[in-house]
Amino acid sequence: METIFLERWLHNLMRETLKDDGEYRQFIGKDSLAEITSSDVQDFQLYKLKKILNYAYDKSPFYHDLFTRDRVNPNDILSLGALATVPFTDPSYISKNPYDFSCVSLGEIARSTVFSTSGTAGPWKKVFWTKGDLETITDFMGVGMKSCVASDDVVLIMLRSGRPNSCAELLAKGLEKVDAFPIISDISLDTEEHIRAIKEHRPDVLFGRTASLYRMSKEAREKHDLTRLGLKAVFVTSGYLSETMRKELEDIWDCPVFVHYGLNEMGMAVAVECEAHQGYHYDQADFLVEVVDPRTGATLGNDMRGELVITTLSREAMPLIRYRTKDISCLLGSPCECGSSTLQRIGKIIKNLGTTVKIGEDVDIFPSLFDELLYPCSNVIDYRVLVSRMDDKDILTIRVEVNRLSDEDCRTINEAILRAEPIKRSLESGKVALSRIELVNQGEFASFIRTRRPIIDERTHFHG
Ligand SMILES: [Zn+2]
Repeated sequence: METIFLERWLHNLMRETLKDDGEYRQFIGKDSLAEITSSDVQDFQLYKLKKILNYAYDKSPFYHDLFTRDRVNPNDILSLGALATVPFTDPSYISKNPYDFSCVSLGEIARSTVFSTSGTAGPWKKVFWTKGDLETITDFMGVGMKSCVASDDVVLIMLRSGRPNSCAELLAKGLEKVDAFPIISDISLDTEEHIRAIKEHRPDVLFGRTASLYRMSKEAREKHDLTRLGLKAVFVTSGYLSETMRKELEDIWDCPVFVHYGLNEMGMAVAVECEAHQGYHYDQADFLVEVVDPRTGATLGNDMRGELVITTLSREAMPLIRYRTKDISCLLGSPCECGSSTLQRIGKIIKNLGTTVKIGEDVDIFPSLFDELLYPCSNVIDYRVLVSRMDDKDILTIRVEVNRLSDEDCRTINEAILRAEPIKRSLESGKVALSRIELVNQGEFASFIRTRRPIIDERTHFHG
């Protein structure tokens, strides 16, 4: 039974393709798709996968060389499982030579983005899109937003804009495609100005980055009753949202909070929560998601936690085959409560290997760990964890921005940190010491929102 917009969209797209594309009809051996099953969706993905592998081999110097070297023949990929025989694409390859990935001439590139992997001081990457790629991105942005946006709803987009084809502008185009009314708000506004804009435009849905929306909400609730502003939903992007932060935002605005999953390399829009809020349904028309063991590279089954590996199925300018995201999660095996019968779900993103820092004897610390520890203290707005080295020990310094300084908060935070299993274990090993937990005033980290890097490893400076 079809119940959600995203599933209807996917099925319609498959039926449209069937109508227009004789090759697809021949591939699946069917002339019509009355009732669409999971296996039909997988066949659609396999059809697109074979096409993109051939396309990448023919057009991209990088993949031509890689497939030749590893003797990959795209026509030998007869099942989705056979994709496991194709080598991975490591993010570092894009940093080294992005132009090697390009399948189109420079004149056909409608947008290029340069970014450093969020949350890390990693090397810069450049990715390209054609006009067609941008249409694909905005299509799914609109469809994804239908989780919480109805026709004629006003969506206030709190993202940096100004450049053509910025994320804010692409999202606005996507929303227009599903008959909603986007308004792009100036991100440089302070909290009071944001609230004035909300009161003026009366949006149904607020869209913004996790860190800035959370900060704005916490600051604004001190002076305003935000539950009276009539929001239907808050939609957050870019950044981990702990369950405590979600609950806090839901209380502050008195509406559900929706989260999506995406990354710059994939054009941001990869997967989105439905009303069940139990994982992210991904865009199966344009991506194929696998989960692999990050050490061995072996493919893992449903519900097994590993690294998400994504293959783009529609990208024209720069297809990415088996791209290692470094994000740790799983594909969920159980049916979703929303009633969709053919949509796959990505589970909660536990951590990103790129923002994970090792301390002491091989203990991992990562931002979502501290998010879960610190945000239950309701005065916390943001924080930074500094890892330094002194006398053969890793030293942790934790600076926490709060909207009210109190000794009690300091005690609560201290206890939470010391109780956390990875921290406790590393302190007991004698290889790690906790220098101090320092509370700082509201606004201290406000200017770092865009390049938010909650764990800063200062040891790399000394170790080259
Ligand atoms: Zn669902």
